[in-house]
Amino acid sequence: MNPEIVLKLRNRVDEIFEKVKGYREYLHANPELSFQEFNTMNFVSERLTKIGIPHERNVTETGVVGMIRGSHHSLEQPCVGLRADLDALPILEANEVTYKSKVDGVMHACGHDVHTSILLGAAELLFEMKDQLPNPIKLIFQPGEEMHPGGASLMIEEGVLENPKVSKMFGLHVFPELPAGKVGLKEGLYMASSDEIHLQIQGVGGHGALPEKCINPLMMGAEFVLRAKELIAEKAPTEIPTVLSFGRFEALGSTNVIPSSAEIKGTFRTMNEEWRAEAHQLLETLAESISLKYSGNVNLKISKGYPFLVNSTELTRNLKSSFQEVLGENNVIDLPIRMTAEDFAFYSQQIPVSFFRLGTGFTDGRQNYSVHHPNFDVDEASLKTGVLSMVLAALTI
Ligand SMILES: [Zn+2]
Ligand SMILES: [Zn+2]
Repeated sequence: MNPEIVLKLRNRVDEIFEKVKGYREYLHANPELSFQEFNTMNFVSERLTKIGIPHERNVTETGVVGMIRGSHHSLEQPCVGLRADLDALPILEANEVTYKSKVDGVMHACGHDVHTSILLGAAELLFEMKDQLPNPIKLIFQPGEEMHPGGASLMIEEGVLENPKVSKMFGLHVFPELPAGKVGLKEGLYMASSDEIHLQIQGVGGHGALPEKCINPLMMGAEFVLRAKELIAEKAPTEIPTVLSFGRFEALGSTNVIPSSAEIKGTFRTMNEEWRAEAHQLLETLAESISLKYSGNVNLKISKGYPFLVNSTELTRNLKSSFQEVLGENNVIDLPIRMTAEDFAFYSQQIPVSFFRLGTGFTDGRQNYSVHHPNFDVDEASLKTGVLSMVLAALTI
């Protein structure tokens, strides 16, 4: 990259830092739950208007889509998508900071306040450069990342990837495991699909001393859990990361009471759609065979969540080399696969994308908490790296 442009960019990032920090602290103090981000939408819309960026509000109710076009761009020219998510979580904030959440029980504990502020900052700088941009930019501020079916899937249904076409797309996510100033990337498979498993088991309850007169739902449940784990481990293709975990087993009998029903909940995660469908079928068949064996009823419901997220190799490589050039090689980290899920995956199923991580860990010795923790917070110096990295993403070939 032209060193003059990089220097100018860095200066502009420094100049708007206090403003972007102000955005973040306002949004952090005023969080809204998934699909209820009306005030956040107004905030984003007002900022875009102030910058001069034309945009559409109320896309899937609370989303905002802005367009940055230079005088040399045609209306049909494919554009680069940059995405931020707007929603907060139902968590009571435990931090004592000046920008603490003013809404009891709602908190930006996943850093979406950071993502939105960064995209507003990057939008301002990109708008200033609009006549030098290789492609027009579509700014996508989407609602409801934290709640199924995911704001991304609704935005796609509303046509956000069309008119003009989005030919590639970038998004970032805060990452407290990396210190502020660093970014992390992963080519190819990156995050898992995520399905909820709900089992309702019906047997026949009775006296614990007379098990022969009962159909014990605990036995059916225990057999399901153990055999499901074995079955998935045995059938999973070795090259496809797969996780099956159970986190809840409730059967409210007693030492001498066999209950009539039990409930089990778990999660199934993987990175391949065919295997995902096959695994669902294997679990269905297992539930049926256990029902038959015990003459009880194992009712299995699998609630399908987000698909797996795959990063374009080419885009991610190009993004990485521009990060290395501008942020320094030591500040660009290769990340391993993660079995968590993210609704950005819906975009990755449609077009080439690169979803990367922004280091937000404190560098001054303060303790770092994971996302979704009531003490989660970010080192705000990371906002600078965030704005710079989103501008670089928009310029990536
Ligand atoms: Zn989250
Ligand atoms: Zn998140």
